[in-house]
Amino acid sequence: MTPPLQLLAVDTLLSDEERDIRDTVRRFADDHLRPAVSDWFEVGTLPVRELAKEFGALGLLGMHLQGYGCAGTSAVDYGLACTELEAVDGGVRSMVSVQGSLSMYSIHRFGSDEQRAEWLPRLAAGELVGCFGLTEPDAGSDPASMRTTARRDGPDWVLDGTKMWITNGNVADVATVWARTDEGIRGFLVPTGTPGFTARPVGRKLSLRASDTAELVLDGVRLPGTARLPGGNGLGAALKCLNEARFGIVFGALGAARECLETALEYAGTRTQFGRPLAGFQLTQRKLADMTLELGKGMLLALHLGRLKDAGTLTPEQVSVGKLNSTREALAIARECRTILGGSGITLDYPVLRHALNLETVLTYEGTAEMHTLVVGQALTGLAAFRG
Ligand SMILES: Cc1cc2nc3c(=O)[nH]c(=O)nc-3n(C[C@H](O)[C@H](O)[C@H](O)COP(=O)(O)OP(=O)(O)OC[C@H]3O[C@@H](n4cnc5c(N)ncnc54)[C@H](O)[C@@H]3O)c2cc1C
Repeated sequence: MTPPLQLLAVDTLLSDEERDIRDTVRRFADDHLRPAVSDWFEVGTLPVRELAKEFGALGLLGMHLQGYGCAGTSAVDYGLACTELEAVDGGVRSMVSVQGSLSMYSIHRFGSDEQRAEWLPRLAAGELVGCFGLTEPDAGSDPASMRTTARRDGPDWVLDGTKMWITNGNVADVATVWARTDEGIRGFLVPTGTPGFTARPVGRKLSLRASDTAELVLDGVRLPGTARLPGGNGLGAALKCLNEARFGIVFGALGAARECLETALEYAGTRTQFGRPLAGFQLTQRKLADMTLELGKGMLLALHLGRLKDAGTLTPEQVSVGKLNSTREALAIARECRTILGGSGITLDYPVLRHALNLETVLTYEGTAEMHTLVVGQALTGLAAFRG
């Protein structure tokens, strides 16, 4: 019997160092995350602070960034780590993605030297937690319609508004907040202890339950002039951060798919009906074969995009192709695997429905499947169908 990704010998495309990093993260996941994750999901919690320190010690936070205590790995290394983390749970991968690719990247790319020195080493070590506030209750796919404002008051900035669905938001020490100013959209670093800043948990989630999700309220939050990210000018800057996080999802979602498929394979091999294992039925084999094709193709695409990123040539449209493909196919795989597990598939005893539920979010955040479809459509036709 051949494991799904071995069929295409995907491993032969990885360097020894890449395999080492992947195996290290996988071992950590097996020892420290997998035993607890279904309980976290059931209760609706994630020990973000504890995990941040552990991930920091492993070098996983902002791992593909250079300097300031970051590991400075390749993009492919980072992608492989995301695959292993999301094989455990999308909530765990989201915590790392938001810390590294949204919070830390925004500071690394758009911050001043002082801001980088102040925040990045402690975020990389997991001593501090960061979040990223772009989405608002009335501005999701269309962030340009945001209502949060930042106005000058003498040397200070004063921020007012509400951000919605903010991962790590209840725990974070610092929030990167995007707000409208007289000169356009700008990014700000908001220490969460600043008067006027409050975070409220988003409750009743049926997806990414093992993830901290917050509504952030900024009510006259007064910040010094130095709180603005000097390079964080325009929505394009915010979208560059999202592009980093989407890259992690290209790899991550396939980790969830892999876990589901491996679970379904094992289940189908041991569960007997009509006197034979489920795996012996042609209909089951067709499901397994089709899913293996999509997982393998998705992983080859992810690696190709990772190599392009490491070469410095990856375009946002290519990231859209990868994000759309990985999330759509991973969700289809998770749902199909659930059918193979029958009734057992709806419980938390197996990871498949948990992954399927998580992937509903992963399909939607960092640009919905529809928006990425339209980005690809625009690249093909030159026409932006998402604008009125
Ligand atoms: C658990 C979770 C965590 C998140 N974490 C963060 C975070 O840390 N930081 C952050 O800033 N945001 C975060 N988000 C927000 C996420 O990015 C948004 O939910 C996403 O951008 C979609 O916005 P929306 O939910 O407002 O949906 P809407 O924009 O209202 O879209 C609803 C539906 O309409 C479709 N649609 C919208 N416009 C068009 C169009 N022009 N053409 C065709 N279809 C269209 C969409 O594709 C979607 O299917 C998170 C979301 C979730 C659920």
